[in-house]
Amino acid sequence: MAYLPLKRPKFSLLDRLYVVELVKGLGITLKHLVLSLLGKSRGKKDFNSPSGVGVCMQFPEQRWDERLPEYYRGAPVLVRGEDGRERCVSCQLCEFICPARAIKVTPGAVEPSASCQKQEKAPAEFEIDMLRCIYCGMCQEACPEQAIFLSKEYLITLTDRDRAVRNKETLYRLGGMRKGLVNKWNQYK
Ligand code: SF4
Ligand code: SF4
Repeated sequence: MAYLPLKRPKFSLLDRLYVVELVKGLGITLKHLVLSLLGKSRGKKDFNSPSGVGVCMQFPEQRWDERLPEYYRGAPVLVRGEDGRERCVSCQLCEFICPARAIKVTPGAVEPSASCQKQEKAPAEFEIDMLRCIYCGMCQEACPEQAIFLSKEYLITLTDRDRAVRNKETLYRLGGMRKGLVNKWNQYK
């Protein structure tokens, strides 16, 4: 089997001692210590630390929810189109691409609807094992119908392993309806 030899960079003595990186790290810590003592820590206004200095989020009363960036990757969910139709066409691309093998799609018959004449299949069942999912977003990237999205849900607490497997009903309940194109590659379809 053909392979490409990997060229590894050569480290100098200074690199191998890690002194520069160590000093850089301590510098960042020192900077935050000074900002904290001066009452200028980033996010101070948002979290109102009881001590008056530094930033301390009082979890779970205070949460990140409102402050999560647009690109945040939380739990994957399924979404319906604006007409209420399931966007998923059961192509199983997400199942094949998922590196953690967290997805299991069982193809079934399509829902009777005038707006889905080109659709051949719909998922009879769709399961995502949240103990396996690594929130990589590959399923979202691979889906040709924009049917699966990574939501901003990050707080997943379970009392037993069976509850970690989310079924189709749960995934649609969490995902809800999503506006916009159904087919992201062909806007005229
Ligand atoms: S986010 Fe990644 S690991 Fe999770 S279900 Fe999608 S492809 Fe699989
Ligand atoms: S979620 Fe998307 S990629 Fe996965 S089976 Fe449905 S249509 Fe295919």
